[in-house]
Amino acid sequence: MAETMVKSPAIEVSFIDEVCSIPGGEAIRSCIQCGMCTGSCPTASRWDYPPRKAIAMVRAGLRKELLSSNSMWFCASCYTCTVRCPRDIKPADIMHALEVLAIRDGLSTKRSRTPVMYKCFVDSAKGNGRVYELGMMLKFFLRTNPFAALKMAPVGLGLFLHKRLPLKPNRIKGVGELKAILNEAKALGGAK
Ligand code: SF4
Ligand code: SF4
Repeated sequence: MAETMVKSPAIEVSFIDEVCSIPGGEAIRSCIQCGMCTGSCPTASRWDYPPRKAIAMVRAGLRKELLSSNSMWFCASCYTCTVRCPRDIKPADIMHALEVLAIRDGLSTKRSRTPVMYKCFVDSAKGNGRVYELGMMLKFFLRTNPFAALKMAPVGLGLFLHKRLPLKPNRIKGVGELKAILNEAKALGGAK
């Protein structure tokens, strides 16, 4: 099967080379397709393409099909696959590399709310130097399902009563430096 190629002004890069170039994605070529990762994965039944198949799709160049699927967004980073993989591959890291590519290309699926959660988390950390949970969650629910916030209200109230949910953000010193680091990471190829 022909590999999907991505065109850039100067070079063409195959899907597998793209994944290999992202930290965590390097080991994908050593996969022997044993399926131990899928068999160990607690969320695999919800993935369009479970871990072993997702890795096979990278190798087959099925870029758009995989990056627009819900697969990698269901990875809960439990690392069971990583502990059990006979080739010392870290499938979870490969899934996170795929998330970076999906966001970068605007292919992240609306069938998972994880991409929105990541964006709200980073925006909050960037604005305050640390996550402001109340603001982050309000933004998340407004962008996904505002009614879901009602279900979480008792949890929020409990946290507030135990002084675990500040009403105002707590900005750190040096937010400017943190923004510079995050901007540098973006310039190096991080997801926007
Ligand atoms: S457990 Fe490791 S070698 Fe086996 S299919 Fe998964 S990533 Fe590949
Ligand atoms: S780290 Fe992700 S891919 Fe691996 S077993 Fe856990 S949920 Fe599945």
